[in-house]
Order: sequence, then C-alpha cells, then structure tokens
Amino acid sequence: MNTIAFIGLGNMGGPMAENLLSAGFNVRVFDLMPEAVKVLESAGAYAASSIADAVKDAESIITMLPASQHVKDVYLGDNKGSKGLLDLVEDGAFLIDSSTIDPHSAKMVAESAAQKGLDFVDAPVSGGVAGAKAGTLTFIVGGSEAAFSKAENVLKHMGKNIFHAGKAGDGQMGKICNNLMLGILMSGTCEALNLGIDNGLDPKVLSNIMLQSSGRNWALELYNPCPGVMETSPASNDYRPGFMSKLMLKDLGLGLDAASMSQSSVPMGSLARNLYAFHNANGNEELDFSSLFEFYQSGK
Ligand code: NAD
Repeated sequence: MNTIAFIGLGNMGGPMAENLLSAGFNVRVFDLMPEAVKVLESAGAYAASSIADAVKDAESIITMLPASQHVKDVYLGDNKGSKGLLDLVEDGAFLIDSSTIDPHSAKMVAESAAQKGLDFVDAPVSGGVAGAKAGTLTFIVGGSEAAFSKAENVLKHMGKNIFHAGKAGDGQMGKICNNLMLGILMSGTCEALNLGIDNGLDPKVLSNIMLQSSGRNWALELYNPCPGVMETSPASNDYRPGFMSKLMLKDLGLGLDAASMSQSSVPMGSLARNLYAFHNANGNEELDFSSLFEFYQSGK
C-alpha cells in the first residue's frame, strides 16, 4: 500500500487527507496546529511530530498551505535554519503542492526539486471546502506529462476533474485566471440583483429570468448571493461556511501580480479586487465571498 505524507491540515487539507485514508493509503500527517493533527489521527492517520517525521518512507508528499511564503519555507527551508522538504524526502519521492500560490514561486520550487532529481507538480484546486469533503475537487496541474500521469493516480482519490494546464507553474496560472473570472462574475451578479431589487423586482424571479437568459453564470446557477433565493447557498446561512472573502482577495491579488508581469490589461479584475479589499476592510473577510452582495445593499 502506498504511503502519502500530507502537510497542512486546514479547512481544505484536513478533508483531503481523510479522503486518502478512505481510499486505503497509509497517510502520515503534519500541521503546526496539534488539534488539526489529532482529528486526522483519530481517523486513522499517523500523527507526525515534524515535517521530517511525516515524509519518512513516503512515496508521495502533498502540501496544502496558506500562501507562497509558506510553500517556499516548507520546500526550500526557512531563514530560521529549518531544513526544507527537498532535503528531507526519500530518493524518488513525488511532490504535489495544492496550495494556491503565485506561478513564479511554483516554478522556483519545481526547479529546485528537479536539481535534486525529484518530480514536483503544482496542483491547485477549485471546489472549496464542500468539494474537499465530497472528494469532488477540480485539480489544475502544472508539470511534465510524466509527472501529470503520476499525479493523477493520487489526485483522483480527492477530486473529480483533473486538468493538465501545461508546464510547471501553469496549474497556478490556470487557477488564478479562473478565480479572476469568478471574482468578476460574483461582483456583476451582486450588482445586477441589487439593481433589480432597487427597482421593485423579486430577486427569485429575476434570478430565474437571468438563468434562462444571456446573464446566466456559475454564481447564479449554484451560488446565488442574495439571501433566501437559493436554500443551499452560503447567502441563505449568513454567508457561512464558504470560500472566505479574504481568500478571494488573495487570489485576485495573485491575478493582478501575474498581469503586471505579463503587462496584461485587467481593468475588471482590478475593480473586483478593490471591491473585495473594501468589503474585507469593513470586517467581512471571514464571510463567504458572495457576501459582497451586502456591500451593494448597505445603507438600505
Ligand atoms: P487554512 O488556513 O485553513 O489551512 C492551512 C493549514 O496550513 C493550517 O492548518 C496551518 O496551520 C498549516 N500550516 C501553515 N504553515 C505550516 C507549516 N510550515 N507546516 C505545517 N503546516 C502549516 O487554509 P485552507 O482554507 O485549507 O487553504 C489552503 C490553500 O488552499 C490556500 O492556498 C487557499 O488559497 C487554497 N484554497 C482554499 C479554498 C477554500 O475554500 N478554503 C478553496 C480553494 C483553494
């Protein structure tokens, strides 16, 4: 049976690691938060005391960390003298990072891994906590063809759709483009619904009209931001749980950084990023990103 080390057991990593346990893998887990490790230990994982302990005898290593700096520190070592994963893993270990980070950092880690003869793929996800729990995530993978095939064999136990975006870093770029689009779509959906409500339309009726018309989009279809329109959307549960506004702001920021490197025009993404910065500064960063609807409704 394969042994997998899983590092970073937060909202996403915890349920992803549980799905690997359910699939029959030996899973060795580590997180800086002992409580997160305990949850996985009670589900059958080996509770490692450090990253070095987690990666012992592991054929594959998966990381699910907050942001670029955490990933660089974990793989390459930090400035406090901690050894990086690349110096701790067994020969031939296969490395998968599913965090959402900037493509440049992902390429840097992939190159350092290659210098040590190790395969690394960036494999960020879409699908949120619900997708992580249900094992229906979408993985967007960057790396060589051979590494992609290897990754598929592990990722299929945590996700439903697995795409090969291209070379190292391209998985992150694909994810960033998707979330730039999502931030813009959600802003537009909130804006249109609010305009309708202000002019006397019933948001349920308006949502149905737009769903059957050219304004149809993912937010309207599955994630309506107006409370009461869709029972299952975070909006109908005080915008909890969900994809936090602070994570949307982070992803839109990654989009803008990438655009400045490639000198691409992103006026809509820029506007969406500023809307989220403003919304978060008003104390909404822990709420689901569809809570932007409240920004349009404020003062009423
Ligand atoms: P989280 O903050 O809940 O979890 C991150 C975990 O990493 C924490 O438990 C933290 O203690 C741990 N960690 C940090 N540094 C560590 C280290 N050096 N060693 C071991 N553990 C360490 O974040 P999350 O919501 O699980 O998101 C993880 C990644 O997935 C992020 O990059 C995020 O942007 C991305 N993502 C999140 C969602 C979502 O809906 N939450 C959806 C898609 C993608």
